[in-house]
Order: sequence, then structure tokens, then C-alpha cells
Amino acid sequence: MKIVIVSCKKVREQNICPGDAKCMVALMRREGEFERYKDKDAAIVGIVDCGDCPGTRVIPNLGVLKLQLASLNETVDVVHLGTCVVSVCPYKDDIVEALKKKAGVEVVEGTHKYLPEKIFP
Ligand code: SF4
Repeated sequence: MKIVIVSCKKVREQNICPGDAKCMVALMRREGEFERYKDKDAAIVGIVDCGDCPGTRVIPNLGVLKLQLASLNETVDVVHLGTCVVSVCPYKDDIVEALKKKAGVEVVEGTHKYLPEKIFP
């Protein structure tokens, strides 16, 4: 299973989720929304951010990532909306709707279930 994660740009810019470690560790342990891949091959092939509020660049950003993956002979099987987006984003429903319409693969809401990030004002 080839996984792409969509993250919150504000969370990334503020470096409050260093190294995307929570998503990485959750997949390694098959915890949170990655539990569904227990006993299955699964890898994160890319992390793309939403492009900043209100998240309208998520589809173009995903498109660029898909091109990069195609050049590596890789594809995407599933897009996970990061727990950062799910927990803090006021535009989450719009982002999910856009992804479901345009991503062309399954969309899962969430990644890890550790303490979610907060955007600092
Ligand atoms: S709050 Fe939502 S739209 Fe704004 S940067 Fe974060 S994920 Fe993107």
C-alpha cells in the first residue's frame, strides 16, 4: 500500500510537528488510522501540504507529487489526511471533498492518534 499524507502547512511552517515523526512512527507501529495495514506492506511515498489556508492548493500540490512519483515509477493507493488537518483545520470538510472528487484514490481522514498539534497564534 503506497500512502500519501496531506499535512497542514501552518503546522509544518511553525515546526510544531518536527520530522513528521508522529505519522512515521504511527505507520511503523501500525497505530491509529494505520492499524488497517496490520500484516500488510505499507509505505509513505510522500507528504504534501495543503498550500496554506484555505487549502485550495491541495489538489495542485498532490498533482505535482504524483508527477514526481510517476518519474520514480511509483503510484499512490491511498491519501491520508494528516491528524494535524483533521484536528485543527476549519476548511477540513472542503479539503476532504476536493480530495474525494479529484485524488482518484481512497481518502482516509486521519493518521496517528497521538496528541494533535495546535497552531500557535
Ligand atoms: S488550517 Fe487547514 S487550510 Fe489552513 S494551513 Fe492548516 S490544513 Fe491548510
